[in-house]
Amino acid sequence: MAIYQSGVIFNRVDTAASDCWTLAAYEQRGGYQALRKILSGGMTQTEVIEEMKTSALRGRGGAGFPTGLKWSFMPRSFPGDKYVVCNTDEGEPGTFKDRDIIMFNPHALIEGMIIAGFAMGAGAGYNYIHGEIFEGYQRFEAALEEARRAGYLGRNILGSEFSFELHAHHGYGAYICGEETALLESLEGKKGQPRFKPPFPASFGLYGKPTTINNTETFASVPFIIRDSGKSFADLGVENAGGTKLFSISGHVERPGNYEIPLGTPFAELLEMAGGMRNGKKLKAVIPGGSSAPVLPADIMMACNMDFDSISKAGSMLGSGAVIVMDEDVCMVKALERLSYFYFEESCGQCTPCREGTGWLYRIIHRIVQGKGRMEDLELLDSVGNQMAGRTICALADAAVFPVRSFTKHFREEFVHYIEHGKPMKEHKWC
Ligand code: SF4
Repeated sequence: MAIYQSGVIFNRVDTAASDCWTLAAYEQRGGYQALRKILSGGMTQTEVIEEMKTSALRGRGGAGFPTGLKWSFMPRSFPGDKYVVCNTDEGEPGTFKDRDIIMFNPHALIEGMIIAGFAMGAGAGYNYIHGEIFEGYQRFEAALEEARRAGYLGRNILGSEFSFELHAHHGYGAYICGEETALLESLEGKKGQPRFKPPFPASFGLYGKPTTINNTETFASVPFIIRDSGKSFADLGVENAGGTKLFSISGHVERPGNYEIPLGTPFAELLEMAGGMRNGKKLKAVIPGGSSAPVLPADIMMACNMDFDSISKAGSMLGSGAVIVMDEDVCMVKALERLSYFYFEESCGQCTPCREGTGWLYRIIHRIVQGKGRMEDLELLDSVGNQMAGRTICALADAAVFPVRSFTKHFREEFVHYIEHGKPMKEHKWC
């Protein structure tokens, strides 16, 4: 299913070749040259961080925070242990890009994490992999073993003064462990529940030590930036957001899969790459950044470019780059019911507004789908959402509210019709 365009992470990666993931194949593509350049004395820690800032790389996990700036927050003079952690806890509905990175190009991630360790003075790293990703976990472990044997990991890497250990950790599949502080709790062997912030992980992270957490795609972009320069990376994207980005396209397109394209590419072009709408149907709506991002109707989406600022101006979020495409046959009431159930199921339960509110949202929408909705339910959804958003420890509560607000705003007539008639506007297929 995966189809790649040329880009930063999948450039020259023949995903159909069974050995594309190996160290030999990666080195043939120029792999580990960036690390060699640094460790041969070519760059200092400060220069690496400055290069990252020049690249305008923004975090690929959802928040889009500038990576170079994040790295500069780590107290490099801190005398004790420091960590870098990769978030491969890919559980957002619609997102399936990171599992392909660890399947087809795991050494790009490993090299990126080693460089990050060097830049921030960390001696160890962990890659937290979502519990439902089995093959990718095994593949990543195999790649780690290759890197250790080749001297890219361990003590005195490539004969330098720098030592760095890297380990994989398999989670249990809880969505909330993708939240960075819940991930740290889980990595420490505790129940995966988000921590209050501050303190932030850069000062109090894994085992209470300074820690920087980045997404898989973020780390995997680092070798290109150091090898080819931050400017080359920045030039691929748009102002304030450099590089290419992996978009996971799912839903009613002819060729769902992952597409690596320059940030700023029009959505219409991306849709075309994915083969256009399935069976010639009309586009109805798109969730452009994973299930937590507000849904946008077709006309707004077709005028959008795929970058952080454009999608944000249109009223949604680029998020993790999970593009969920819905055709004219989708019932938006049922689609929202499914999404709401997800957040209800995945709430960790420690904040009352989220634990109770996600259940309320789901039950109200479920009632409408059952044909028992009341017109005041639309105001009730608003009211419950207002009691949740911004009032909890982590962003899951907000993530549950965004779809409810956007679905009922852009497709209100479908909700009104469902409540009045006890059934959808037309006999929709299940989405
Ligand atoms: Fe847990 Fe929800 Fe609170 Fe996040 S907002 S900490 S998921 S209860």
